[in-house]
Amino acid sequence: MAQILIVEDEENILKILSDFLRFEGFEVLTAQDGQAGVERAVGGRPDLIVLDIMLPRKNGYDVCRELREKGLLVPIVILTAKGEEIDKVLGLELGADDYMTKPVALKELNARIRALLRRAEWLKQEEKLASVEFGDVKVDFQRHEVTRRGKTLPLSTMEVGLLHYMVKHRGEVLTRERILNEVWGYEKFPTTRTIDTHVLNLRRKLEQNPNRPKYLLTVHGAGYRFAG
Ligand code: CA
Repeated sequence: MAQILIVEDEENILKILSDFLRFEGFEVLTAQDGQAGVERAVGGRPDLIVLDIMLPRKNGYDVCRELREKGLLVPIVILTAKGEEIDKVLGLELGADDYMTKPVALKELNARIRALLRRAEWLKQEEKLASVEFGDVKVDFQRHEVTRRGKTLPLSTMEVGLLHYMVKHRGEVLTRERILNEVWGYEKFPTTRTIDTHVLNLRRKLEQNPNRPKYLLTVHGAGYRFAG
C-alpha cells in the first residue's frame, strides 16, 4: 500500500484529504507545518507528498527545495491557492512534480497521485546508470543527486527520469511519442507538450545558455537528442 504524506496546516482541509486518501486505500501520514513536513518526509520515506504552500515555520517551496537537496526523489504535488499562478514557475524551479489549485478536486487529485506513483514505480524498476558528467553538471543517478559547480540542483522526479532516459540513449534521436511512452508510461494526462516543458526546465537548470543548449538538443521536426 502506497504511503502518502500530506503537509497542510488547515485542519479541515487536512481531514478531508486524509479521509479521502485513506478511503482510496492509501496509508496517510500528516504534518501541520513545514518543518514537521521535512522531518516526516525524511524519517518516513513516503511514496508521495501532497504539499501546501502557505505553511507555518517553513513554506512549501522551502520544504520542496530542502527535500530535493537531500536527494529525496519522491513525487511532490503542490497545492496552491487561487491566484498563485506565478508561483507555479517557482515550484517547477524547486523540483515539484505537479500542481493543484484549492479547493482541491478530490477525484482529480486521486488520478494525478496514481499517475505519479505509476511513473515513480516505473523509474525505480528501470536499470539505472551510475552517474554522468557533462559541462559543469554532475549527476549521481543512484543517489538522485544533481550538482552544478558543487551546488545541489532541485530536480523533480520526472526531470530526473527524463534526464536519465536521454543520457541512457545518448546520441539517439528521441521522438516525443517515444519519450512519452517510455518515460511517462501509459496514462491519459500528459501530452507531448509535457515533454517540451520538461526539456525546457532541464535546460534552464543544466545548460549554461538555455537558449543555445549544448547537451539537451532539439532535433527539428523529430524530437530531442542528448549530446555529451
Ligand atoms: Ca496553508
